[in-house]
Amino acid sequence: MKAAIYARISQDANADHLGVDRQLTDCRAAARQHGWEVVHEYVDNDVSATRRKSRPQYTRMLASIEARAIDALIVWDVDRLTRTPRELEDIIDLANAYGLELLSIGGDIDLATPQGKLTARVKGSVARHETDQQSRRIKRKIQEKAEKGEPHGMVPYGFQRTYQQDESGSRRHGRDIPKPAEADIIREITRRILAGQSLRSTVQLLNERGNPSPRGGRWSSATLRQVLLRGTNAGLRTHRGEVVGKSTTEPILSEDDYYRLVSVLKDPTRRAQLGTTPRHLLTGIAECGLCGGKMRRLKGVERAGKKGPEAYGCRDCFKIRRSMALVDAYVEGVVIALLTRPDALAALAVGNPDRAREAQTRAEAINARLLNAADQFAEGVISAEQMARISAKLRPQLDEARESLACFAPVTSVAQMAGPDAASRWAAASLPMKRELIDALMTVTILPAGPGRGADPRLIRAVPKTV
Ligand SMILES: [Zn+2]
Repeated sequence: MKAAIYARISQDANADHLGVDRQLTDCRAAARQHGWEVVHEYVDNDVSATRRKSRPQYTRMLASIEARAIDALIVWDVDRLTRTPRELEDIIDLANAYGLELLSIGGDIDLATPQGKLTARVKGSVARHETDQQSRRIKRKIQEKAEKGEPHGMVPYGFQRTYQQDESGSRRHGRDIPKPAEADIIREITRRILAGQSLRSTVQLLNERGNPSPRGGRWSSATLRQVLLRGTNAGLRTHRGEVVGKSTTEPILSEDDYYRLVSVLKDPTRRAQLGTTPRHLLTGIAECGLCGGKMRRLKGVERAGKKGPEAYGCRDCFKIRRSMALVDAYVEGVVIALLTRPDALAALAVGNPDRAREAQTRAEAINARLLNAADQFAEGVISAEQMARISAKLRPQLDEARESLACFAPVTSVAQMAGPDAASRWAAASLPMKRELIDALMTVTILPAGPGRGADPRLIRAVPKTV
């Protein structure tokens, strides 16, 4: 008889660790007793019995049964062979189809007999129960640690773990404290993202400088995002993706910065910037005081061989022209003053991403119904009168949904910049971010100026849209 041995390395927190050597030695002895020739030994390294990890050796073992390369399979115990009742049934089917003999050191099990199958099933389900219990105990332990704010698992990037000794003298996890070099990187990337820089450019910077990623290799946007979204950076303990309270960890970031990051990185309206990047603060944003047209950039006029300063000019009526530096400086001053107001955050950042998403979905659904009705009308399925009735009913609903969308859509940049240090945040912000913010907050109008009054800032209006 040609026999194979299958052994699996498994780790039980509560039971004795059953070494693979012990399994193999016992199985070889059993083969000798039966006078079987061991043609192959399959060993899988599978630490968890329930995690759906691939077990390459197990798969190869099944293949050799199907190829009739082995007549018998020796295992230390059935729970070393199969991890779920489902897998056991597969083995039983194979054993029946290929006349395989299964020898378990814990007692011969002949899968061809009903008694053998029953024994295997009972043993299998007992093993299953054990693993269930075990994973429940582990989950409970993790939850307890989470509630106490104690660290669990790998030491996160940016931190080092301290250890304590308990009464019995054994080492216990203490708390996580910042690891200076990595913590500096976390602070730096946080500043960049909050200043409106993209994940991509930040990844590029880290890789160019050769700062190793948490796993030691190169950074990717996904890794960066993951690192930034960790509550532990701000000393918050999360469990199953929810902040459950403060942790014992010494924070690297303020909670305020952490929540700003979350609002930036999870903002549903955050998109990759498309098209050409604008290079001026107010082009397409500031309006003409005569016709309402948007401003475009005008090159400086050349006078006596000297190039004059750049200007904004109305792209529709061509009647307004004003120095770009003058307009930018005035508008920036107004915006910073607005953002520095103590009530700025409350007054300006009235966003609620959940409500916004909900309103967006509602608006889309109503709009789809309207379009559908219009199609039916065009095809003659419904009359003009029916169409009018449907429209009269749906329009106000659509308006209402769009209104709440406008009301709840978060102005990300406001949340990021408002506060007492708005001026320095503004200075560090990227141009697209400044433009987004001005566009969201203010109406900028350039009024016509008579001769000699072109430098008068009172002829520029920057009025908050809401508030
Ligand atoms: Zn105009």
